[in-house]
Amino acid sequence: MNQSKLSLAEKDVQHQLHPYTDARVHQEVGPLIIERGEGVYVFDDQGKRYVEAMSGLWSVALGFSNERLIKAAEQQLRKLPFYHLFSHKAHSPSIELAEKLIEIAPVPMSKVFFTNSGSEANDTVVKMIWYRNNAIGKPTKKKFISRLNAYHGITTVSASLTGLPANQRGFDVPLSGFYHVGCPHHYRYAKPGETEEQFADRLAAELESVILREGPETIAAFYGEPLMGAGGVIVPPRTYWEKIQAVCSKYDILVVADEVICGFGRTGKMFGSETFGIKPDVMVVSKQLSSSYQPIAAILINDKVFEGIADQSHTMGTLGHGFTGSGHPVATAVALENIRIIQEEHLVEHAAEMGELLQAGLAHFSEHPLVGEVRGCGLIAAVELVADRKTKAPMDVVGKLGRYLAGRAQEHGMITRAMGDSIAFCPPLISTKAEIQLVLDTFSRALDDTD
Ligand code: PLP
Repeated sequence: MNQSKLSLAEKDVQHQLHPYTDARVHQEVGPLIIERGEGVYVFDDQGKRYVEAMSGLWSVALGFSNERLIKAAEQQLRKLPFYHLFSHKAHSPSIELAEKLIEIAPVPMSKVFFTNSGSEANDTVVKMIWYRNNAIGKPTKKKFISRLNAYHGITTVSASLTGLPANQRGFDVPLSGFYHVGCPHHYRYAKPGETEEQFADRLAAELESVILREGPETIAAFYGEPLMGAGGVIVPPRTYWEKIQAVCSKYDILVVADEVICGFGRTGKMFGSETFGIKPDVMVVSKQLSSSYQPIAAILINDKVFEGIADQSHTMGTLGHGFTGSGHPVATAVALENIRIIQEEHLVEHAAEMGELLQAGLAHFSEHPLVGEVRGCGLIAAVELVADRKTKAPMDVVGKLGRYLAGRAQEHGMITRAMGDSIAFCPPLISTKAEIQLVLDTFSRALDDTD
């Protein structure tokens, strides 16, 4: 076949394997080709406009056409397009970004380590904690506990922390030494009559029983997203984190907050750890760190973690870990400018205000016959669809209703995301009242089609 005669969509089907896509269905339906972005909107190759109610992948805080971010990237590309941080090298954007992250961290943090993605960051955290525990004379303290429905990425180690079947089934993960405790979703997993408080107590007790079963001397860290994103936008019960944190302190277990989605204003405060009262030893940020204009993630570690790593690197003569792109100058320059804009334009406060509109608007759907639960916090939310509100039963196949509704929304000009039968909303932090209203109105039309 003459390649030049193929349409872009045909070339896509012929040459690309897409992440998070049924490869066979893709051969039938082909791609939605997104050509350009402007503010909270993206446009396809036919010129159709979509309000991007997911900020891409929970990430484009400043929308799709921020001139200051574009300029920051261009200036850095002209000045120094690449350099690395290996063997005592440094450059100004990575130094300034590390300083900025330590300055805004919700708890005292000591050092920042950069990676290219959230998955790499979580992989790195596990290795760093193993390395540190070897150094401090606790070589048995190596196991990690995370939660069912958690999402921490897809590299072999981060997929082992993840607690979603699609990321593990067929991939021979989780690795041994990774354990998953209950998901703090009261609507789905509370026992009949159990209050949120009792549910949180039960989950904390479950964590303690796993620690005691395995032996506290074998458990290195507890890993969690302050509010679970990809698992369905799960807002934990109010006292959940303080109870989890208390169990971890009791057994000298580090707490890692995966802020890849929650960081930089998403939940109405700068970090999800502030919203939910977490005091992490390690924090992982990405996505809204650079509004995803450049791939970058960062790990913040406190002194307790750093000291062991420093000793071990000294014993070894080097810290044998790092990526070519760790602290990439263009990515760090863009991230630094992105945080400056979030601060100067008071976008965290704006997100809290717009979040109230989004949550109040979605709450109106909670009595709809197909809606089981509306949940969220700040500018992130989900509506869970059910076939039967009483039994909370899904339609014949889990995810069918969600996929259908997301498809209808797309036809009406809105991109959202179905996670099972939950429809997620995560609009850019810059969204105006009118744009939040557009998201709500479009959802209403899609829901009417689904009736
Ligand atoms: N952690 C969380 C909480 C995430 O939501 C994600 C991605 O959605 C990741 C980690 C993985 O990040 P990446 O896709 O950049 O590897």
